[in-house]
Amino acid sequence: QILNDEMCEICEVWTAESLFPCRICPRVYHDGCLRRMGYLQKDSAVEVTETAHTETGWSCYYCDNLNLLLTEEEMYSLMETLKNCKIIPGACLTLDDFLHYKHQVHKQQFERTMPEAQEEQAALQFNALDPDKKGQIEWQDFLSHESIQLLQKIRPQNALLRLLTPKERERARAAFLALDQDNDGFIGEGECRQARHSWFRKHQREMQSCNVRPGEAGTLGGGGRPHFGGRPWASSTAGVSSEPVCARRSIDWPGFLRENVAYILAARPNSAALHLQPLA
Ligand SMILES: [Zn+2]
Ligand SMILES: [Zn+2]
Repeated sequence: QILNDEMCEICEVWTAESLFPCRICPRVYHDGCLRRMGYLQKDSAVEVTETAHTETGWSCYYCDNLNLLLTEEEMYSLMETLKNCKIIPGACLTLDDFLHYKHQVHKQQFERTMPEAQEEQAALQFNALDPDKKGQIEWQDFLSHESIQLLQKIRPQNALLRLLTPKERERARAAFLALDQDNDGFIGEGECRQARHSWFRKHQREMQSCNVRPGEAGTLGGGGRPHFGGRPWASSTAGVSSEPVCARRSIDWPGFLRENVAYILAARPNSAALHLQPLA
């Protein structure tokens, strides 16, 4: 059982007033305190009150900002990269800015041009960061995306796993158990990947492609590109399951958590943008 704090993080006072819990950490807040500290703008006040007690939930200002996960050194290195690529802190980015930046970063790192497939992926990522189709992405969303990408690149997976909170682990566990319909402790690779798409609980809009029920995940997700050469015991229990066997590799709970950890962290911000677009 995961318990929330009893006292408001800001005023440290217990009152009978309702407190808004963070969906990520144990902190709770008075909306009056959030407003007084300037953490609630006019429209986000409605957001908090409407979503904090729903399934979607609300992330507090510590958890909302993926940039806070970086160490000072990592932050410095990110800022250097941005400076080298002439990215102006605080400014919105167009698709051209974004692709130009991605090309430059790729060239600096690998000393050759970015392949076309990767440019396509970058364009998809841009669209995911621009859910309102404004043709530009907000600085904060760009920074969150770059922060999680940097973490994914330079920190070992175990270090990322340590960043997960008990609430995040519990939700991931529930998602895993829902996917493991025959209760053998393993799920298919396609389902594991599909879980990434359904991870992002964003309040503004229903993402059509994300609303995949666990039972359908295999057929939609892994159908196109089955993976061969997986572990031999993968299909031994296939007869029990009514689902088509399309994912050849089985993934257990620690594996599920490892493979999805970056996406779980990327889902923290309240913004409707997807800060780490899963590969199709
Ligand atoms: Zn308070
Ligand atoms: Zn929090």
